[in-house]
Amino acid sequence: METLRKRIQQIKKKRPGYKEMLDFYQRVREEQEKVRTSLTIEPIQLKKEWKALLAKEGFPLLERKDFPIDIEASLSLFKSLCQIGKEANPHMAEQVRKIEQAMSEKKIDLSTLFKEGGNEQRVEGIAKELGLDKKILLFFIHSSLKPSIQTGVEQLSREIETETWMKGHCPICGSLPSLSLLKEEVGKRFLLCSHCGYQWRIDRMICPFCNNRDQESLQFFYAEEEKTHRVDLCDKCHQYIKTIDLRTIGETDFPLEDLATLHLDIVASKKGYKRPVPTPWTGE
Ligand SMILES: [Zn+2]
Ligand SMILES: [Zn+2]
Repeated sequence: METLRKRIQQIKKKRPGYKEMLDFYQRVREEQEKVRTSLTIEPIQLKKEWKALLAKEGFPLLERKDFPIDIEASLSLFKSLCQIGKEANPHMAEQVRKIEQAMSEKKIDLSTLFKEGGNEQRVEGIAKELGLDKKILLFFIHSSLKPSIQTGVEQLSREIETETWMKGHCPICGSLPSLSLLKEEVGKRFLLCSHCGYQWRIDRMICPFCNNRDQESLQFFYAEEEKTHRVDLCDKCHQYIKTIDLRTIGETDFPLEDLATLHLDIVASKKGYKRPVPTPWTGE
């Protein structure tokens, strides 16, 4: 958390416009850390033959609903997040009030949603039905599940070969990446799972979304004077992913870096490129 706080201070100085969002994010992370130490998570059992077969066929190990979740901890975290949301800004406060109202009328069954691993379609359906901002509801649900998911992934990651998977989707849960990361002296490229946070290796010159390797149609741009964060564009599928060069910034919190580079998403979107895994922070 100390690293996170320092990095948030750094970003605030550079981009004061992000202050409100960063303060909100920091409080969310603090609450997540609080529950992390006291979680009860069933170990995930994987049969050896099964694991080998899945890896051979390129299937992920789990579905989102298979992650063991500490429901009680997620429920209490959700409550704390609602409290933070109420104090964040008027739009969020209004959303939280609507969510709480719907919960008291039993129109949202959080335990079931948590057990399903925050099934996006289901959450979006509920948001539509109740006239809620689906991004906010999804963010609250996913943030409440995250400590449990992370604990499960830490157990599983010991069983997976990070360096050989080389595909555009997560070897653990099959979700698409939210970010790409450059690491180690040689700049090995890794993808970060948008759902479970697992990282796996991928080639430097490939679009993770359509497997395009044609160098002519892969390009990137930087933010002015900030070569640590760039946007990789693919002219075949017209999608993009942001890449963070960790060789310069060192240890950091990835969703924080994603949040602090929304200006890059705006530029990419203006250029006509889409982001397959939407960020919870923009209106899109
Ligand atoms: Zn994953
Ligand atoms: Zn592509």
